[in-house]
Amino acid sequence: METSEQLMSIGAFARASRLSPKALRLYDELGLLPPARVDPGNGYRMYAPGQLETARLVAWLRRLGMPLARIREVCALREADASAAAGEVRAYWAQVEAETAVRRDLAAFLVDHLSRKDATAMSATTPSGTGGAAGRRPGDGPLAIRYAALSDTGLVRDRNQDAAYAGARLLAVADGFGTGGAAAAAGAIDALRPLESEGASAGVPAGDLLNVLRDAVDRAGDAVPDAGSGTTLTAMLWTGSQLALVHIGDSRAYLLRDGELFLITHDHTYVQSLVDEGRLTAEEAASHPQRALLVRALSQGPGNGAGAEVRLQDARSGDRYLLCSDGLSAVVDPDAVRRVVASAPDPDVAVRELVALAHESGGPDNVSCVVADVVAAAA
Ligand code: MG
Repeated sequence: METSEQLMSIGAFARASRLSPKALRLYDELGLLPPARVDPGNGYRMYAPGQLETARLVAWLRRLGMPLARIREVCALREADASAAAGEVRAYWAQVEAETAVRRDLAAFLVDHLSRKDATAMSATTPSGTGGAAGRRPGDGPLAIRYAALSDTGLVRDRNQDAAYAGARLLAVADGFGTGGAAAAAGAIDALRPLESEGASAGVPAGDLLNVLRDAVDRAGDAVPDAGSGTTLTAMLWTGSQLALVHIGDSRAYLLRDGELFLITHDHTYVQSLVDEGRLTAEEAASHPQRALLVRALSQGPGNGAGAEVRLQDARSGDRYLLCSDGLSAVVDPDAVRRVVASAPDPDVAVRELVALAHESGGPDNVSCVVADVVAAAA
């Protein structure tokens, strides 16, 4: 034990650590940095000089914006294993960057919407592109979509808890889980159906499209029948020149453009978060026993759609979109998926061939596919 002569008063310790006495009292109450000794008579907190390093670490981690509970973990880890503490900071920062990326997409969406309104008001010129949400290319006339959807039980499960939908404006796949999974998936898509009507998306004022989608996703969450169930939802809304994307969970959206198939959604899974944090490779993730564990999905409760990502995709004539549940993407080799998507003559053939691929791979899960082509609108 240190003797009281070696201990510092809270004021001296605060000056040396550059933390305020108020912060030090809070960190004590939270068990983050308990004083070396509390005087039983007057209750004064006394700190050991050896605690300065922890105090400085806490101060730095606060500057990073790390929550106190997580700082406590880092401090505890550091005592046992400094490299584990370093790994925890790295993981935290990867999470911050992933969240920032979602906010960046949201900002790009809003910038695009606002510029589009300007551009429409001023002239018929193509608005400048922002964050991958560029406008229609000059020369593209009016566009339309051709689409097909297919949902299949697969060869192993006894019922289908997926749902798929394709209409003139709305494309959606949902993959339900839990005892009420089928109702959750179907209900989520039903909640988006009102967007099928022309007025719901066409000519929506700048920025409002975002709210329309958010409201729809919140309604979709309300459709989840019980606390143990939920669903993924990946949907696109055709506005006549663009596709607005909403996404939560591990169903996926891909874009085939110029012969290349691009994954345009991010899996909200535990293993993907480990990949993002650099703790797992993509190859390891593909065979991880917990690869289906979702970190975000639509579940019961108000505002549960808050974890959904919303983004705007520019549409080009010749683009082909694929929306699918993990019964395709986690089961079929990505090259085989790309070959079918690139070569199928129309969306109807594409969805049937994709489901057939899942069957050839054993059909272990429900499988749902929506394929939509962006085409020149018939005159
Ligand atoms: Mg599934």
